[in-house]
Amino acid sequence: MSEEKSLNFIEEIIEEDLRTGKHDGRVLTRFPPEPNGYLHIGHAKSICLNFGLAKKYNGKTNLRFDDTNPITEEAEYVESIKKDVQWLGFQWAEELYTSDYFETLYEYAVKLIKKGLAYVDKSNSEEIAISKGTPTQPGIAAPDRDRSIEDNLRLFQEMREGKYKDGEMVLRAKIDLADPNMHMRDPLLYRIKHAVHHRTGDTWCIYPMYDFGHGQSDSIEKITHSLCTLEFVPHRPVYDWLIEKLEIFPSRQYEFARLNLTYTVMSKRRLLELVREKHVDGWDDPRMPTISGLRRRGFTPASIREFCDRIGVAKRENLISMSLLEFCIREDLNKTAWRRMAVLDPIKLIITNYPEGKTEELSGENNPEAEDGEGSRIIPFSKELWIERNDFMEDAPKKFFRLTPGKSVRLKHAYIVECHDFKKDEEGKVTEVHCTYIPNSKSGEDTSGMRVKGTIHWVSAGHAEKAEVRLYDRLFAEEDPMASENFKDSLNPNSLQIIENAYIESDLAKAEMDKNYQFMRLGYFTLDEKISRKNHLVFNRTVTLRDSWAKEVKKGKKK
Ligand code: ATP
Ligand code: MG
Repeated sequence: MSEEKSLNFIEEIIEEDLRTGKHDGRVLTRFPPEPNGYLHIGHAKSICLNFGLAKKYNGKTNLRFDDTNPITEEAEYVESIKKDVQWLGFQWAEELYTSDYFETLYEYAVKLIKKGLAYVDKSNSEEIAISKGTPTQPGIAAPDRDRSIEDNLRLFQEMREGKYKDGEMVLRAKIDLADPNMHMRDPLLYRIKHAVHHRTGDTWCIYPMYDFGHGQSDSIEKITHSLCTLEFVPHRPVYDWLIEKLEIFPSRQYEFARLNLTYTVMSKRRLLELVREKHVDGWDDPRMPTISGLRRRGFTPASIREFCDRIGVAKRENLISMSLLEFCIREDLNKTAWRRMAVLDPIKLIITNYPEGKTEELSGENNPEAEDGEGSRIIPFSKELWIERNDFMEDAPKKFFRLTPGKSVRLKHAYIVECHDFKKDEEGKVTEVHCTYIPNSKSGEDTSGMRVKGTIHWVSAGHAEKAEVRLYDRLFAEEDPMASENFKDSLNPNSLQIIENAYIESDLAKAEMDKNYQFMRLGYFTLDEKISRKNHLVFNRTVTLRDSWAKEVKKGKKK
């Protein structure tokens, strides 16, 4: 890397392993999603970490679907996960499934039974919970704990054959019922579940538990560094115990803090609730913290990678501000988005001294931040324009540098105009603003010598196209929705504003999917990939040009 950056704690571990020649200098990580929902920005942190480390140390990353729960998992989720990881800019070495290892895992379980290290327990889940004891009191052995190896082998075989009902018995490791770590008190390894699995169909009716499926899959793949979030710290002794007793490849688990973001929730279960109860329009609703939602909203892969880089990896939980994510996308789009003009709340501006029927073809750079401007587009100009309603005021305060009778502004890429009159309807609403233009004040060839304080955007009324524009606010009104009794109580009722008839400059009719535009003075926008049609364009606002929330919070308007 060109700039010196201190190593995070996982990089330190890897560099130490490389120095001591552990795993022959090999680095193999994995990203192990359970296909029970769409990926969210928290997963992006794990993806950037796993793939980023592999890239840095010339290693590889597997994509492994942790598909051990047939009830909640679906092929649709598998497809969306693959799409999202690739969109973020990463390519896995191998696409693997825990379900591919079901036979091997079964053999591992048999091996444990044969070693006297696992037993079939006929207690029900309540009995198991009680017999586990409490952190201060040791557990009590179930009557089945001392059953013979032969009987355990037979029962386990029969579990597999489907002789028993769901919940009738489980397979448990025989570790230590007095261990201060509750996870070590004979953890469950297998349960019975008569359900159709999205890949193995009805081949199996017993499924490995997380503790058994996960670490053993790591080992089968010879993963060198298995990274997971902090809640798995107490599972690590189980992870190590199983690998040791099975005498298989010694993968190691390391834990980092999960990402928590303000004004949103980040668990698939809760996101699914929002989808099912139609608080949002699907997993990819632009207000969702999912990768697909962020994509539809107009976030770029680079901005999400930058965000994950900035938050870093630590061993302590914290809450990251949504403003940081927004900062990252603004930084990126300021450099890359093409500039265009659109008017969201239109009011007519008539240039009384401009010839009727005349059209001028003005031009505007696509991207003033780029050295070559990335070319330019033609902007038609004529006698009748649309401008933003709030760019005109009848009785303006002194510091209002936009249009008001007697004052002048520059029309972006065009001329200086001076307001001399306006029209109102019966209700007193302004319907037209009348101006004169200064013919020798054209942008780029201005010889008028006039100086004006304000520049406003506009579109030519006879040339503009109509479009739908969607403005978003935060999905939740509270910084930490989980602090409410029910997280849905803090949903923000004004998180979506639909503007059905906005006017966009004619060039935007050719707007491309996956491209970002800055609508001057209004924010960054992108075409909605799901609901836009050729003759009904829908633009989503990705983010405003400035952080309006920081200001509102200061004013005490928003909490
Ligand atoms: P959720 O609670 O949202 O369902 P999960 O941890 O159950 O999350 P998995 O599909 O099991 O979701 O996670 C795949 C990987 O992503 C795991 O290694 C997990 O630790 C990691 N991960 C999930 N959420 C976050 C987060 N908020 N921050 C960082 N990593 C995360
Ligand atoms: Mg999970």
